[in-house]
Amino acid sequence: MPTRPHQGEPLPLELVNTEWMSRGERVDFFEDDAAVGQWLSENGFTDRMSDARLPLLEARAALRDALDRPTGGAEARLNAVLDHGSVRLQIRAGSLERRVEADPGWLPAWTAVSQYAELLEMDRDRVRQCAHPECVLYFHDTSRNGTRRWHSMETCGARFKAQRHYRRVQSRDAAF
Ligand SMILES: [Zn+2]
Repeated sequence: MPTRPHQGEPLPLELVNTEWMSRGERVDFFEDDAAVGQWLSENGFTDRMSDARLPLLEARAALRDALDRPTGGAEARLNAVLDHGSVRLQIRAGSLERRVEADPGWLPAWTAVSQYAELLEMDRDRVRQCAHPECVLYFHDTSRNGTRRWHSMETCGARFKAQRHYRRVQSRDAAF
């Protein structure tokens, strides 16, 4: 099972970030069935991996599409995932309870897509892709001033600065 380069984001981004680039190749964490099981339990789901895998792949593709091309036609794909569940409201002991009812295996995918909509509503401008041109990871910028650019300062931030420095040195050398 490969090691994910970045964790700790809200659920929809945790799902999208199960794909990343390594040395120019796209890595898919979910190619490994055990990894899907690990992702589910880390995110508090008890669904069986074998039921949840395909819905998760569908939700992940729809979410990445929506994030990569905000004005594209991803809404229909997101709604197709949401069609697999609904929220039931009930009053119990005087307080309102929301219960999600989802088709077998669809709860994790449904939850990720519904939380994506909530995240955008709350903080659209702070959901961003890492600024490194070769990185496809997304993050929710919770920094105070909202100027975070990298999924990680230690990897992508440092890599970008090193490359910029290298280019500067090269173009200076070329001038002489
Ligand atoms: Zn990055």
